[in-house]
Amino acid sequence: MAVPISQMWTVASYVLKKRFSGQKRYPLVLMLEPLFRCNLACAGCGKVQYPPHVLKRMLSPEECFAAVEEAGAPMVSIPGGEPLLHPQIVEIVNGLIARKKYIYLCTNALELKRRIHEFTPSKYLTFSVHLDGQRDHHDFSVCREGGWDLAVDGIKEAVKRGFRVTTNATFFDGTDPNSVRAFFDEVMDMGVEGVVLSPGYSYEKAPDQKHFMGRARVRRLFRAILSNRKPNWKFNMSPLFLEFLMGDRKYECTPWGSPAYNIFGWQRPCYLLQDGYADSFKELMETTKWEEYGVASGNPKCANCMVSCGYEPTAVIEGFGSLKGFWGMVRGTFSKYKDPHAQKLLAEWKTEPHAPLVQIETTNRSLEETNA
Ligand code: SF4
Ligand code: SF4
Repeated sequence: MAVPISQMWTVASYVLKKRFSGQKRYPLVLMLEPLFRCNLACAGCGKVQYPPHVLKRMLSPEECFAAVEEAGAPMVSIPGGEPLLHPQIVEIVNGLIARKKYIYLCTNALELKRRIHEFTPSKYLTFSVHLDGQRDHHDFSVCREGGWDLAVDGIKEAVKRGFRVTTNATFFDGTDPNSVRAFFDEVMDMGVEGVVLSPGYSYEKAPDQKHFMGRARVRRLFRAILSNRKPNWKFNMSPLFLEFLMGDRKYECTPWGSPAYNIFGWQRPCYLLQDGYADSFKELMETTKWEEYGVASGNPKCANCMVSCGYEPTAVIEGFGSLKGFWGMVRGTFSKYKDPHAQKLLAEWKTEPHAPLVQIETTNRSLEETNA
């Protein structure tokens, strides 16, 4: 696991404190979405389809700080939209660093090289760059030729300047595990701290509805990708969550572990679903019908979900909340997950060629509309 010791210690002591205080539900990572606007229009995205008047709206730094203090989580992930399009993103980031929050600023990095000089390296700040695989696969996934090259330029510049950098990838049906493994080699050579990965979630609003995977296909794909690991691969995630993706662990969702706050308020129940909004974090925690979510609830919207924002909190709480979980985490950190069956799966994997890349032209149009 590539997470620094100080961050692990902060999260571990937070989990133990909550456990000993008897608190049943608490957040680990606040998903803070300061805007939905983006300079890409990925086919699997469920955020950028809002009408222009919504895409124009943004959270102010004060609203961001208030949400962070209300939730009290030790980590803050800033997805979007594209956070680097927010004119006050530097002020937001500096305010969170001053509050000693571990920040993952999730960016497609198209603007990263141009704006990197505005930020200061800190153990609290990580640029989490959206990179969905090798060049062709990433450009296809983000519907933008040249997207990979721009993102990699941004990564190299950030690494050179001493920032913490990770990559985050979302995988859909049709992903070639051999290519993903070659991608791990490439990003580790760029000097990133670690890789973050997740299967895609079937957003109702996403333009491409054909490539979301069921649970069995997710497990097969991740077993092929994550078994027989190379010694230099590092993952910026809980090893227990990776075992869950490989089918070695059964977990229930912990939706309150990664609560989402955006221009509409506190989103119920999670970052992915929108079953209404609460005005305060307290209201979100106390009035959401949590039993109606997760696979065991039978909710069809959760049936195929294995995404990190729902299931990684479960893994982290198990890892830091019990001796057995902690031992599993230590073992997972050093294991290479040798598996001859997965090796055979890789050798026999049939890659389906994807259709030609479609540049989604609405990106620029919608940017012009929102900028107007
Ligand atoms: S980079 Fe792609 S997935 Fe991320 S917010 Fe923009 S359009 Fe959505
Ligand atoms: S299973 Fe997925 S969609 Fe359902 S509440 Fe959990 S994270 Fe959200």
